[in-house]
Amino acid sequence: MIEVDIPDGAQISGSLGEYPLSFFTQDGKTYQSLQGLHAKESPGLNSISMSGTLTDGTPFALTQMVEVFSGDYHYEEIIGVPQETVGIDITEDETIQLQEYTLQSTQNKFWAGEFLSPVPPAFSAAYASYYGGRRSYNGSGYYYFHSGLDYFSPMSGDIYAAAPGKVVFTGPMLLHGNTTLIDHGWGVYSLYAHQSEFLVQEEQQVSAGALIGRVGSTGRSSGPHLHWEIWVGGIQVNPLDWVDNIYP
Ligand SMILES: [Zn+2]
Repeated sequence: MIEVDIPDGAQISGSLGEYPLSFFTQDGKTYQSLQGLHAKESPGLNSISMSGTLTDGTPFALTQMVEVFSGDYHYEEIIGVPQETVGIDITEDETIQLQEYTLQSTQNKFWAGEFLSPVPPAFSAAYASYYGGRRSYNGSGYYYFHSGLDYFSPMSGDIYAAAPGKVVFTGPMLLHGNTTLIDHGWGVYSLYAHQSEFLVQEEQQVSAGALIGRVGSTGRSSGPHLHWEIWVGGIQVNPLDWVDNIYP
């Protein structure tokens, strides 16, 4: 998260490496921008650039170097997923399909505080697989990465909205299976994959903790579990960051 104080009425824009930044404010003075960095981003130096104009037309600019650290992600071999769901091109296609939603930033911020766990308390620490791991499917090379957090759950277990927002997509996807995508505002989205049943519809507003669907094993899955993603500025980030921290 990038936070800057600028005078009333000033305009600001910026970028973090290759990613454009969107700035939002709640009080008209402090502006915040949230932007995810890809799990496969190379460690090393990256730059944040910001520029804008004051109300009298005076330009301002700032560039700051930031260091990107390795996530020390582990390697995982997954077997038993449907072979038609394994492929580099189809994985990229599905990412692009989801970016049609997740690259859009809604001006309203619907959430406050931490995100809730999307499963019942008995399973809320039952992680089956962490975000970021490099993955091989059905004996492929380690070309893939784990784009979310997996929770153990029985078939048809409850899935809850992690934060308030608006449902922007529910439907089947080749890899994510039956998927629900919720817009929380400011370019932040949560996604719930592999479901057996949808309990919400597109355009529906949901509150934090609302029952939105049931766990399944549709798509690129080898057994019932909840695969949960958080997207920030069109990039999948570590969902645990959003359970453990408050942004902003
Ligand atoms: Zn997963």
